[in-house]
Amino acid sequence: MLVLKFGGTSVGSVENMTNVKNIIRAGKKKKIVVLSAMSGTTNALVSLSENIKNSENEIALASIETLYQKYLVTIDELLNCSELKQEVGNYIDSVFDFLKSCIDQPYSELLYNTIVSQGELLSTYIFSHYLTQEGLNARLLPALDFMRIDRNKEPDNFYINRNLNRVIDEILPADIYITQGFICLDADGNIANLERGGSDYTATIIGSVINADEVQIWTDIDGFHNNDPRCVENTHAISHLSFDEAAELAYFGAKILHPQTVMPVRKFDIPVRLKNTMHPEAHGTLINSEIHGDGIKAIAAKDNITAIKIKSARMLQAHGFLKKVFEIFEKYETSIDMITTSEIAISLTIDDDIHLVSIKEELEKFALVEVDKNQSIVCLVGHSIIFHEDTHRLFQVLQDVNVRMISYGGSNNNISLLVHMDDKIETLKKVHSYVFEGGVLV
Ligand code: ADP
Ligand code: ASP
Ligand code: MG
Repeated sequence: MLVLKFGGTSVGSVENMTNVKNIIRAGKKKKIVVLSAMSGTTNALVSLSENIKNSENEIALASIETLYQKYLVTIDELLNCSELKQEVGNYIDSVFDFLKSCIDQPYSELLYNTIVSQGELLSTYIFSHYLTQEGLNARLLPALDFMRIDRNKEPDNFYINRNLNRVIDEILPADIYITQGFICLDADGNIANLERGGSDYTATIIGSVINADEVQIWTDIDGFHNNDPRCVENTHAISHLSFDEAAELAYFGAKILHPQTVMPVRKFDIPVRLKNTMHPEAHGTLINSEIHGDGIKAIAAKDNITAIKIKSARMLQAHGFLKKVFEIFEKYETSIDMITTSEIAISLTIDDDIHLVSIKEELEKFALVEVDKNQSIVCLVGHSIIFHEDTHRLFQVLQDVNVRMISYGGSNNNISLLVHMDDKIETLKKVHSYVFEGGVLV
């Protein structure tokens, strides 16, 4: 069995949905197809929730109407028989009536989660009816019947395994099962999600549970590029990445993959292939356990990082100091990304600063604390790059950029630089030029 995931742009227009249909139709293997919301929808639903939170009822109503019209135009173009248009139209009406009813409700996390889940519910309903119209043997597989996270927000694999197989057995046999990416239940059975961009994660969770032959992530670009194409010119797709390389790049900000995407499939050695829905003939990127090539392969960046410097006289002699520091971060379930130490200070970074005030208060009981917000981690990845003979020359780039912290050797595959967010694009460009365009590393 194959798992194919299509992102927002891939299901964002009638033309692209036709491409998706052709991709799904090819080949003989059974498929589970994971869909995101149509592009722009989740962002619109997030801002709708903000409007509701701020009691901006007029704005909320207007944005619901704008989104509603977009869906009516889509089904009008996509579906050709009036009965089908009626049936799908009724579903769309029910979703938008529900959204309108949310305007008067008190804001809560559950309300937010319910609102943002509507995008995937809409896209899968519309698309599965479209496939039936086109004569494909496709059925809807409701994600909320099997996808669940536990109290640590990790996939509940036991539950997913049991229920996914049960749901597949219960519904009529099909060649293609269409399901929602991103959305799930939490440990209490309430509607939740796998965080923004989470449909990639849905695909690999399903892939690992059904032991898929391959997970394909179809998007709007021809694979994993060697730098962020939104920030740097002349990037190119990388034909192959190892699981470790892809995991580091996704975790450190490459938007093309949700940070956790690789985790579920790595331990089962299930390959992940990134492909372009608009150019299916392009090779894309294959991610598996093999290692190809050496040296720096790609650069990614993660924004909104907070750096914390914790100073204490005689830190290293004072054994137990690091333990005390880490226990505070553990208490507030805040994970640390980069870390460097000196005789009197430790600098570290976090990307979730929701508990920053409490963490700082506790640290200040035994140390001086300085906080710098708005930092970016620029991360260079490649197999065993820390041992590569050319890598040391990367440090020549440091004469041109203002680097706040460096992490070298934490893993063999990763070197990370911390810079101010305002310097991120310049740093990405400079490192790109040094590494890939003969600036220094050739
Ligand atoms: P989808 O909606 O299909 O999930 P995303 O927008 O989440 O697509 O991810 C694809 C986008 O990620 C690309 O259009 C590109 O702008 C951006 N991107 C950022 N870094 C990279 C990278 N290293 N390689 C490819 N795309 C990247
Ligand atoms: N629709 C969700 C989002 O925009 C999930 C996804 O696209 O993967 O974040
Ligand atoms: Mg995405």
